[in-house]
Amino acid sequence: MIADDEHLVGAGLADALKSLGYTVLGPATDGDAAVAMARAEAPQLAILDIRMPKKDGLEAAKSLWSAFSIPSVILSAYSSDEYLERAQEAGVFGYLLKPVATEALKTTLPVAWERAHTLLGGQRRVAQLEASVASRRVVEQAKWRVVSELGITEPEAHSALQRTARTRRMRLAEIAQSVLDSPADAWELQTGQAGS
Ligand SMILES: [Mg+2]
Repeated sequence: MIADDEHLVGAGLADALKSLGYTVLGPATDGDAAVAMARAEAPQLAILDIRMPKKDGLEAAKSLWSAFSIPSVILSAYSSDEYLERAQEAGVFGYLLKPVATEALKTTLPVAWERAHTLLGGQRRVAQLEASVASRRVVEQAKWRVVSELGITEPEAHSALQRTARTRRMRLAEIAQSVLDSPADAWELQTGQAGS
């Protein structure tokens, strides 16, 4: 997806990208339009002019990444330290200077895309690990609460939680959380003694 408020630049960029085999969306002509277009069309990558009306390219890049995990490459006529710093803060995946040669697009875009997806994969793995550590902790806490409230052994408490989760078609961590959230007489756990 391209966004540039100068029509000629946008059109030239679109031609260059098409000659490289890319399917092109846009150009959007301001930052808000770029975000709206990204929301509607879910492009794989955005090339954003830095100076645009309504929302500049760096602000748009931040939104695209945080809301839709769409990486951006910034396009700019300026290489000032201020812009560079802001680009680093915004977490963009490339910074191209105008006028952009087709060769520069050819090398920058695949690297940007690869970097973004490596990062996303890592974030997903971390999130999964955090979730599994958290749910194991909840199950552990719930089990010990069951042990102390019902006076059964740890393995009995564990299988009571598992059995109840299976019957109610809930995840073990969900049952465990509800055990932690409610008083013991409201649990209705399927302990071995109670039958079933
Ligand atoms: Mg501009």
